[in-house]
Amino acid sequence: MTAALAAARRWRADLATRPIPATQPVGAGRARLPQSLPEQGMTAVEVVEELVDVVEPGLLTIGSPRFFGWVMGGTLPAALGADWLVSAWDQNAGMRDATPGVVAVEEVAGQWLLEALDLPSSSAVGFVTGCTTANLAGLAAARDALLAARGWDVATQGVQGAPRLRVLVGAERHGSVDLALRYLGLGAPTPVAADAQGRMDPDALRAALETEDSPTVVCAQAGNIHSGAFDPFAPICAAAHDAGAWVHVDGAFGLWAAASPALRHLVAGLADADSWATDAHKTLSTPYDSGVAVVRDAGALRRAFGHSADYLLHSQEPDPHELVPEMSRRARGVPVWAALRSLGRSGLVDLVDRLVRSARGLAMGLAEVPGLTVLNDVVYTQVTVAATDDETTLAVLDRLHEDGLVYPSASRWHDRAVMRFSVSGYATDDVAVAQTIRTVWEAVEAVTVGEG
Ligand SMILES: *Cc1c(COP(=O)(O)O)cnc(C)c1O
Repeated sequence: MTAALAAARRWRADLATRPIPATQPVGAGRARLPQSLPEQGMTAVEVVEELVDVVEPGLLTIGSPRFFGWVMGGTLPAALGADWLVSAWDQNAGMRDATPGVVAVEEVAGQWLLEALDLPSSSAVGFVTGCTTANLAGLAAARDALLAARGWDVATQGVQGAPRLRVLVGAERHGSVDLALRYLGLGAPTPVAADAQGRMDPDALRAALETEDSPTVVCAQAGNIHSGAFDPFAPICAAAHDAGAWVHVDGAFGLWAAASPALRHLVAGLADADSWATDAHKTLSTPYDSGVAVVRDAGALRRAFGHSADYLLHSQEPDPHELVPEMSRRARGVPVWAALRSLGRSGLVDLVDRLVRSARGLAMGLAEVPGLTVLNDVVYTQVTVAATDDETTLAVLDRLHEDGLVYPSASRWHDRAVMRFSVSGYATDDVAVAQTIRTVWEAVEAVTVGEG
């Protein structure tokens, strides 16, 4: 444990100075390890030392203040410490009465989350592995509740032969929504038109709702991964509820706008939805893997995942395993609690506001770089940028990744190659923003002069 602690300390001390991309591909890492399971074991210290030696060159410096890839946050020290204890305590957090210590902390974390995100206080909260599973949990609750209202019990009757359940999604929803629907046996959703920022058009939704009266789930989004944009929740929830539909919100990183008074206007009407999915390992900066499913009708979440058996302990209250797909699991709500406890409400507001301020600063600076265009309205943490043509954009990305100082990730948006600067790490500050703008400027100059 001392060897692991020393390696962890070294790793974290170097986050701001280490080159960001990994320098050792998977194949090279594999080649440095014994190819067959060795006959003899070795001591714990030797194992940790070998692990550190082999893995470190293959690590991506996600905690760097100049890392902007995908939507990946850092890890707050309090959350990391709590996560270590969760491993050391090794509690199976599924049953309230069996492991009451960690369950108490998770239940308080759930309460605090509802308070911080301004969601209905009697909602059920499930601690899952990430937002994909949180979407799965919310959509499972939706499916089972809507079909139960039509006299169909999914738990016993399955989905084959069930009344048709329609799922309406924004044209720019995240792919994890499609995955969750696939796992639930619901097939591909029906897209509803979105505007230039990727926001679902509420008039198009209303029109779609009117075409059919089958039970319907509307899946809205808080935080588009390219634009950061938020679907207009108030008109979406009004239209959906007029039609008797369930509204689920994928808010992997965007739900956290609700924590900030300055940003709350972005999520107006959010609390009118029926279920919400978010990540703790993005904005809240807990270690992986940590997501949160919230369902207004607590009974609906338990209907989807509840289970009893003679060999289990059953509490008066719903047991944690009845609110998530897993039975056995680590107490991943404990690092969530620790992150919130270390930040406090004001620290959480500062964290979210700082990410947004950095994104705006980055966008203003990048817009000045000759040949670069910021493609989105920067309302939140995402800045999507392109050069004059796809080839130049990709060349700039390659150059940045080779230099290793600044790390945006590549994507395509509205038929263009783009660089995404997703400000998701709490370590990003004004200095990192200024360095990033300078580095990108130089990369664009080098690439375009080279083409000259
Ligand atoms: C990251 C993300 C997801 C998926 O979350 P995981 O934690 O990777 O499972 C879903 N929706 C959006 C908008 C995301 O950004």
